[in-house]
Amino acid sequence: MSIDSRAADMLSKGFYKERLEPGECEYLLTFGDRSPVANLAVSLADRLTRAECSNTGQIYAEIEVSGGPCPLNCRFCDCAESTTSARFFEIEDQVLERYVQELGAFSDVRKIGLMTTGEGDVDELARRVGIVRDTAKRGTQIYVNTRDLEPDECRMLKKAGAYGAYHSCRIGEGTDTGIAKEKRLETIDGLVSAGLSVTTGTGPVGPEHTPKEIVDSFFETAGRRCCAADIYAREPVAGTKFGSIGKVKPARMSQIRAVFTLATSRYDFPVNEPFRGTFVQGLNISYARYGQADGKEQLYAARRRLFNNGYQRVLRADGGTNELTLAYLKQTGSV
Ligand code: SF4
Repeated sequence: MSIDSRAADMLSKGFYKERLEPGECEYLLTFGDRSPVANLAVSLADRLTRAECSNTGQIYAEIEVSGGPCPLNCRFCDCAESTTSARFFEIEDQVLERYVQELGAFSDVRKIGLMTTGEGDVDELARRVGIVRDTAKRGTQIYVNTRDLEPDECRMLKKAGAYGAYHSCRIGEGTDTGIAKEKRLETIDGLVSAGLSVTTGTGPVGPEHTPKEIVDSFFETAGRRCCAADIYAREPVAGTKFGSIGKVKPARMSQIRAVFTLATSRYDFPVNEPFRGTFVQGLNISYARYGQADGKEQLYAARRRLFNNGYQRVLRADGGTNELTLAYLKQTGSV
């Protein structure tokens, strides 16, 4: 099957670090996820990411510190008050300390994220950031994931020791969520101004979203001096507006990530970091949800994922690297 030459030229531009315009991304996303255009996009984005991070992966462990039914009732969320049967939950200090100590056992968790849902107390979150700062291996980057924040709250989290924050402006903000788009964007700007390294998000992407909707959402935040972007699919949640629509195929998500990776290949990061990879978080960042039930298993799986995807090193908390070999997986209990 021949490849569309206009699309191939666009992909080549992205690979050689020329910016792709939104209209070009839209065009690239009109091709199917098994097309030659999609395959080339995924391959080039993968090569670019590996070159940018010197084949070094990172582990991002996320700990839920505060949760429960959320009154904001986003119409795709399993934590929404209207659909969840979850109870309110606050992590105990000793449990948080223990998790952080366990995550530091081999010094190969570079980022620890503290996740909150709903209208979490930001003073309390800042206090917990302090616990992680005092317990984690030196150099560990602490991220926070919160409700929308005022500028002074962003500064307080930075002062408490947070390195970064995750905050996305979701597709359907203000219509499928209880929050105005402007408020989400103001929070992102406030976090960036406070000096935090911000990971923004494009999603939740559903099968019904058009290339234009996805591209518009990505470029809404791509120029706001963030340090990374997470492109994520919507999970079908029974009883919600989108519960019966299904989920975007992994191959389509890979294609979307690849196009945006190439589109931002010449992104000028506000903070320089070794082994970062590309602006769009790709295969080189492996997530582990660290909690009561199977935290260690998730951490083992995160190491295996990097190894299985061919990454040769894993970034240490202190900015050095550990060789990611089969022997290392055995030594860390990951196989
Ligand atoms: S604000 Fe977050 S936690 Fe609350 S309903 Fe929306 S997506 Fe769920």
